[in-house]
Amino acid sequence: MSERVIRTTCAYCGVGCGITAQVAGPAPFAGGEARRPVTITGDKAHPANHGRLCSKGTHLAETMGLEGRLLHPMLHGKRSNWGEALDEVALRLRETIEQHGPDAVGFYVSGQLLTEDYYVANKLMKGFIGSGNIDTNSRLCMASAVAAHNRAFGEDVVPVSYTDLDEADLILLVGSNTAWCHPVIWQRIEAARSARGTKIVVIDPRRTETAEQADLHVAVAPDGDVALFNALLAEMDARGLAGAAGVLPQDLACDAGVLPEQFAALADLVAAHPRMVTVFSMGANQSVGGTDKGNAIINLHLAMGRINDVGMGPFSMTGQPNAMGGREVGGLANMLACHLGFSPAELRDVAAYWNTANICTGPGLKAVEMFRAVHEGRIKFLWVMATNPAVSMPDSGFVREALARCPTVVVSEAIADTDTTRFAHILLPAHAWGEKDGTVTNSERRISRQRALLPAPGEAKADWWIMGQVAQRLGWSDAFAFNSPAAIWREYAGMTALAVARGKALDLTTYAQLSDEEYEALEPFQWGGAYPMAGRAMQLVPVQPLTPKAMDAAFPLRLNTGRYRDQWHTMTRTGYAPTLAQHRREALLEVHPDDAVLYGLADGGLARVVTASGAAVFRVGLAEGQRRGDVFVPMHWTDVMAGGARANLLPDQRRDPVSGQPGFKNTPARVEPV
Ligand code: SF4
Repeated sequence: MSERVIRTTCAYCGVGCGITAQVAGPAPFAGGEARRPVTITGDKAHPANHGRLCSKGTHLAETMGLEGRLLHPMLHGKRSNWGEALDEVALRLRETIEQHGPDAVGFYVSGQLLTEDYYVANKLMKGFIGSGNIDTNSRLCMASAVAAHNRAFGEDVVPVSYTDLDEADLILLVGSNTAWCHPVIWQRIEAARSARGTKIVVIDPRRTETAEQADLHVAVAPDGDVALFNALLAEMDARGLAGAAGVLPQDLACDAGVLPEQFAALADLVAAHPRMVTVFSMGANQSVGGTDKGNAIINLHLAMGRINDVGMGPFSMTGQPNAMGGREVGGLANMLACHLGFSPAELRDVAAYWNTANICTGPGLKAVEMFRAVHEGRIKFLWVMATNPAVSMPDSGFVREALARCPTVVVSEAIADTDTTRFAHILLPAHAWGEKDGTVTNSERRISRQRALLPAPGEAKADWWIMGQVAQRLGWSDAFAFNSPAAIWREYAGMTALAVARGKALDLTTYAQLSDEEYEALEPFQWGGAYPMAGRAMQLVPVQPLTPKAMDAAFPLRLNTGRYRDQWHTMTRTGYAPTLAQHRREALLEVHPDDAVLYGLADGGLARVVTASGAAVFRVGLAEGQRRGDVFVPMHWTDVMAGGARANLLPDQRRDPVSGQPGFKNTPARVEPV
């Protein structure tokens, strides 16, 4: 049988692995026919993974069937068609704006969107509806790293590349279960360890699978990271190794919860290895002090001069496949577009580029605030794209109340029945991975093409097309006359000239004139080069350790949440892959054995976890790797996919004051046997 070979990018994490897909049968073929077999292997030519894939990427083909797909527009629960559904979206949008103003509209989008989709969403909201109210589920993932970059570098720039991991002598993994959550990066780190003896340190309250394999596990207290990095900075200063400090930590007495011998071992490793990369991830970012954690890490690198050279630097690893692309176009409520802010001059430049008189006047509402505004009736039209906030937001019971109250909920989705689509008045069928066509940016700023492997089933459409059709119905035809992802790319890449004019590193101007054919053939490339901050101003930022929470007698434990190796987000895709389900069949509440005795829990029995926000039942798994007083649950399970055990019912709405990122990982809780 003949076959086509298509190079694309993985659907899942921010490593951004290249994939080679072999699609059975000759092209072209029509959307109506049965799905064709697809074989997935790693792309040996892709610089992110050199042919490696993890279990999720390897089994992507198992998720490409039509089971569960949303194939037609739905209006109020009944099958509709595109003309009727788009007219209804446009009508409700116009009426909302006319009656309540543009800030009564909100877009909640996703790191699953391609850059071209993100660009159109941001342009429509900030440029034409005229509100800043577009935010993304990336707010839950790495908004604190964005804020830390902005404070230290004046721009959201990751100053490191994957090749620096290959060349490092010491890698600190902070709040990152890399072996499970960024597995190909872990494989790369292991390869470096084999090749050059790289030392690996894990800084994490839990002894995770990654920590088990590290040379040193520093079991920091929950939210003790700033205290730890401040203490490290002081120690390096005392050893004469932090000559560029300038700012010294203010409160070293604050307890990082680290044993003295662990701290001494860590300090000796840091002192001895100038080639040091510090990878930080959700365990750092998902905190009410997440931005300070990022800056505490960056401060150490700046003070020791360990940045902008081979094998060194602070490295924020992103969770989602295109969180970085969303950040670049401006898909966060607190960024205008292309790394630009909301100064009068920047607003004027962007308005001129988009040729609009409706430009927004300032930042919009960040994710938690956006759902609060929906709950309070200030937002009356909410459009959710490619994400499942009824499961993934903290205090998700509150989010469900908000969705139930909202006069208009539009959901663009590939999957028909999710916990969020159940609240939709208008449901729009979108492309899934394997049908999408555009670009994504990975954690090292590398932009890669994602290419369609199969025709879209039913009436599913690209997200950019759906938004463009609505915009045209609202009278903005010229600005949204895009007929391909390549046309959107050219406009976006050209717009980065506005960033360059303000001294930003984000520069795609040389890609602004790509022909359709050149765009189709685009090879992965890294914007900003290997060291985009070299020669640019950088600054240390004073950071404040979090004061450990006084424990409430009603909630004597601290609840941590995180991922399993073989599941992704709310399981709307990985839940369809039988092979992946074999790794962990259910969500386990991980409890230290001594705490299990204290609270009357039995290994394999059921327990209820209770917080101020809600309660959920899990099976108990005893885990020596838990700190006493801390418990852990995975965040994937949903009502639709697995019948409950919804972890994100439990965290509250507290968030980092700078970034707005929720503090998922340190929620006061209690456990009781069921
Ligand atoms: Fe996909 Fe991430 Fe696995 Fe690579 S490491 S194959 S990007 S899930």
